[in-house]
Amino acid sequence: MYVEFDRDTCVGMFQCVAEWDAFEKNLNDGKADLAGSEEEDEDLFVVEVPDGEELDAKFAARSCPVDAIEVYDDDGEQVV
Ligand code: SF4
Repeated sequence: MYVEFDRDTCVGMFQCVAEWDAFEKNLNDGKADLAGSEEEDEDLFVVEVPDGEELDAKFAARSCPVDAIEVYDDDGEQVV
């Protein structure tokens, strides 16, 4: 399972930070940072979800008011 984070869309509401430790507040930018992620495209960050953190990642995605977080299974199917 992996997460795509569209940091350009992020408006820094930080609900995701409360749901999953991988999301951290970046108060300088007014946006979240996704720990351990790689920038796959401009402002699009991708990270593999560690075992046991799948639920937290899904809750983070659901909590985002601007849908900046998407969760995909290993087949590339979007699950959130
Ligand atoms: S919940 Fe969405 S808008 Fe808020 S910080 Fe997280 S990714 Fe950004």
